[in-house]
Amino acid sequence: MAKHQFQTEIGQLLHLMTHSLYSNREIFLRELISNANDALDKFNYLRLTDEKFKEQEWSPKINIKLDKEDRSIAVSDNGIGMNEEDLINNLGTIAKSGTRAFLEQLTGDAKKDNNLIGQFGVGFYSVFMVAERVDVISKKAGEETAYKFSSDGTGEFDVTPVVKDEHGTVVYLKLKEDATEFLDHWRVKEIVKKYSDHIPYPIFLHYEVEENVGEGDKVEMKKVKKSEQVNEAKALWTLPKSELKKEDYVEFYSTLWHDSEEPLTWIHSKAEGTLEYTTLFYIPRTAPADIFRADFQPGVKLYVKRVFITDDEKELLPLYLRFVRGIIDSEDLPLNVSREMLQENRILANIKQASVKKILAAIKKLDEEKFDRFVDQYNKLIKEGIYTDHLNRETLLEIVRYKSSKVEGLTSLDDYIKRAGEREGETKQEIYYLIGDDEHVLRNSPLLEAYKKADLEVLIMDDKEIDEIVTPSIGEYKGWKLVDIATVDAPEAENKEELEKLNEEYTPFVEKLKNILGDAVKDVRVTTRLTESPSCVVSDSSDPMASMRHLFRQMGQEEPELPLILEINPEHEMIKKLSTMKDEKVLEESAWVLLDSAKLAEGLEPKDKVAFSRRIADLLSRAL
Ligand code: ADP
Ligand code: MG
Repeated sequence: MAKHQFQTEIGQLLHLMTHSLYSNREIFLRELISNANDALDKFNYLRLTDEKFKEQEWSPKINIKLDKEDRSIAVSDNGIGMNEEDLINNLGTIAKSGTRAFLEQLTGDAKKDNNLIGQFGVGFYSVFMVAERVDVISKKAGEETAYKFSSDGTGEFDVTPVVKDEHGTVVYLKLKEDATEFLDHWRVKEIVKKYSDHIPYPIFLHYEVEENVGEGDKVEMKKVKKSEQVNEAKALWTLPKSELKKEDYVEFYSTLWHDSEEPLTWIHSKAEGTLEYTTLFYIPRTAPADIFRADFQPGVKLYVKRVFITDDEKELLPLYLRFVRGIIDSEDLPLNVSREMLQENRILANIKQASVKKILAAIKKLDEEKFDRFVDQYNKLIKEGIYTDHLNRETLLEIVRYKSSKVEGLTSLDDYIKRAGEREGETKQEIYYLIGDDEHVLRNSPLLEAYKKADLEVLIMDDKEIDEIVTPSIGEYKGWKLVDIATVDAPEAENKEELEKLNEEYTPFVEKLKNILGDAVKDVRVTTRLTESPSCVVSDSSDPMASMRHLFRQMGQEEPELPLILEINPEHEMIKKLSTMKDEKVLEESAWVLLDSAKLAEGLEPKDKVAFSRRIADLLSRAL
């Protein structure tokens, strides 16, 4: 007998299972059935692809046996099974970084936390909510020896060789004293119906009841063994839409993707042309917790003629749709399709393209409440799509939403265009935007002043990481040019003549500022874009660095700072006074303050914060 230590995180998890998560204990059965289903899927696939197993007779099934006297419940399958190594690796450690992510996500709200159990691939451990001891007896298909894994849910587990006939797994639970409700066959039937009705393999329940047997005087109470199939065992997606009710779709979704919330929508369709396939896609109401992790679990399962092939292929749909859960069942792919083949398979590429169109169309059709929820959860991913999916860019641009200087909440580009088009005398087809990472800073940016004055709407993009890469790539939408107001001259640039005159008039002063600020700025110039602020900084879009910055970020390196241009407002009292200032010392201090406070207003940091605050103090004390 070999003793093993659970991985530390599992220890933590087990502690949680045994002590805290009590509200919805019945889901342990859902998790065991789901694992049995996976094991049957895997063996089914093996039989179709591996000569060794082709001839073998096999009737896949899941058995649940209740034993009141022994206070135990056993769930077994004749699926792929596990050998010694599998038992240790699969049940004693967590290969995926799932557990830690799971622990991080725990909220303390039992209902939400329970929902997380399934999502993170920590399902097996939910047995410790109801069991004081668990034995997993398993024999891997094609191997001789079977093994038993035993644990009482504390730090250690044992693995010992045992004898077992057929390949597959038995999970035996010695129930806790307070978990005897799960010995009641009505209760168990109800749970299986609720969570696992659409598991495509038959689930049989075996139990004993006391019944009156015999006739007349000879009637006596006897224990009678009963067995019955308790699930529907039909692949739901193969049924015609007309036979399916809303509840069927929702139940199927929650069974397969462990989500207790009703999905926002689903799209069920059958293609019968040159290619034959069925797809069923769901959009979760809440974004799956791992979609922004590199090791996210894909949500789409691939079947060929109802045989499960894989649920581990990340690109059955484009990556930006990684929140979609669903099923693709193809009639045309070969059953022994390999991983490598999947990547560049034409049939799949075809299905993928058609599926994206359907999913995006369904998103556009969501009612207002659901659409808002969709945007709340997935706007970032839609932006990702704008950047990566050129074929569907137009549709994605119809879906994406932005904050705006003109309206509360969010706006679509179409609504922006509509509002701008309604403005009197407006002829320029331009969509203005400003990018940064703080909404408050953006809304108060001096750069907005001229646009406010000219009554022009500016989109406020505060998702800097993404917007900075995605938005410049849009270029144009429906004939409207997207314009970053931090890189262009102010609107109505202003009476050119007047600006030239001002520039000339201010040349000596501007030259002085340039001398003082040196390398800290690329240029200094006069602007009429400001009304309230004395100065602002803009970045030079023509600078080659501007387009290189996101490359640096993608490579995980610090982005180089963009050279800034300092613009001064000749109408401002402070500038007027400074331009005639004789005191060189005050002028120098003020020049730096002009630059640093302009940087602050754009959410940038002054180069030397200590010097900045000292200068402010100096200037203030002079003024007082
Ligand atoms: P998940 O099912 O999300 O992978 P679980 O905690 O439910 O996570 O199960 C952990 C692993 O244990 C599974 O991935 C599988 O490899 C293995 N396993 C569990 N139950 C069975 C079973 N009945 N037959 C074969 N393997 C199993
Ligand atoms: Mg599982």
